[in-house]
Amino acid sequence: MEFTCPTCGKSLPRELLVIIPHTEEHIINEIKKKHPDWKEEDGICKKCYNYLKTQMKPQ
Ligand SMILES: [Zn+2]
Repeated sequence: MEFTCPTCGKSLPRELLVIIPHTEEHIINEIKKKHPDWKEEDGICKKCYNYLKTQMKPQ
């Protein structure tokens, strides 16, 4: 089973899928801005999640 990460566009094994917690809505909103069809329950890959998390620290 694979999923496609919306931010890097790669097909990856589901073990690397991360569902972004609601406490990190700023990350969710940022992805939705670029990918309007994406839903948070679709998740993103671990690598992108870690990347966005370090890029977008809450103020
Ligand atoms: Zn990714």
